[in-house]
Amino acid sequence: MTKRLFYTDPYLKESIAIVQAVEQGKSIVRLTLDRTIFYPEGGGQPSDKGIIRGEGFEIKVERVYGRDEIWHEGKIEGRLPQAGEEVKLKLDWEWRYENMKQHTGQHILSAVLKDLYDSNTTGFQIFENYNKIEIDFEGKLTWEHILRAEIRANEIVQKDLPVEIEFYEELTEHLRKQLRKELSDKVKPPIRIVRIPGVDVIPCGGTHVKSTREVGFIKVVNFYKKSKNIWRVEFACGNRVLNYLDELLKDYWGSLDEMPNKNRPLVERVKELKNEIEKLEEERKALRLEVWEWKAKVLLSKAEEVGGIRVISHVEELDMKDAQAFVVYLVDKNPNSIALVVGKNYVIFAKNRGVKGVSMRALLREVLEETGGGGGGSEVLAKGGGFKVEPEKVLEIAQKKLKHFL
Ligand SMILES: [Zn+2]
Repeated sequence: MTKRLFYTDPYLKESIAIVQAVEQGKSIVRLTLDRTIFYPEGGGQPSDKGIIRGEGFEIKVERVYGRDEIWHEGKIEGRLPQAGEEVKLKLDWEWRYENMKQHTGQHILSAVLKDLYDSNTTGFQIFENYNKIEIDFEGKLTWEHILRAEIRANEIVQKDLPVEIEFYEELTEHLRKQLRKELSDKVKPPIRIVRIPGVDVIPCGGTHVKSTREVGFIKVVNFYKKSKNIWRVEFACGNRVLNYLDELLKDYWGSLDEMPNKNRPLVERVKELKNEIEKLEEERKALRLEVWEWKAKVLLSKAEEVGGIRVISHVEELDMKDAQAFVVYLVDKNPNSIALVVGKNYVIFAKNRGVKGVSMRALLREVLEETGGGGGGSEVLAKGGGFKVEPEKVLEIAQKKLKHFL
């Protein structure tokens, strides 16, 4: 069983310990110690990072985990450590201290949400740049609710209240009643209670700062509904507030600067842009229709009449999607018409629904027999591609084949 030095003194940045067991992986090594200052991942708090150093080796600790025996895992330089030898432990203190602020900030925020809205915290996770809690909340959570909670939470931070750690073999009924959350049956004694007098009492195994003022600042950065009555609230504490807001503001001002009109608020500028796009889209549609009308007129004037059917042949520059939209328009608008359109490695055959006696799919099949490639379609519209001959040649073959049908 590894002694958890951080349970009683989370401010211990360095320590010595005795190696208990060593295991070697491909590129990493992992070991257990008789005692440790490294917090193992759990309870929403990520594991510590740091260095384990011995005579002739150094391990860069990247992951710490385990319940009774705590394993320290990382890349090693030098020889493999032996069980029984003494090592020096050193924490990545900046990482740990920020995590302590986040964790304590979470206790405060969760206590305030419980107090103001009777919301229970059902989940908690510290990430690299922010933290997440899940709370139950009936109805719609708004920024007004959030602001009220933030003001109250930061008042508690400013009060410089002590964060006390207590150990119990058994909890009295009186103490149980004070807990924000019921004690899980899984927790074995000694039971570790974290108390912020007048604010919060809760069982917790994480690392916390010793006074609320050290949390610095608590800022909710985002929130959204996850499922019925469960909301996710993202927040940051300490220096991570500054990092988060700096990144957000860089994005905000950068976005505003990209706008044609650079005056705040950004949301109004975005709405203007959206309206402008809609207007342009309408104009584009109208212009396209006008172009189609002219194009159809020109093509029809050059159409060949075969057995009372106007056969339009055309080598197209547009890509297949746009070409198809035009071809469908063309044959739908003009009774007794068939369009044979070829483009860069595609062909579209289409007919007006009123034209009887010829299937576009059947025509395509015959053409493909000579040109190679593949494709398919229906009675009125068929598409193909992958030919071994030039588009003009495909068109010529199609015209010939069509005459057999008509
Ligand atoms: Zn905690």
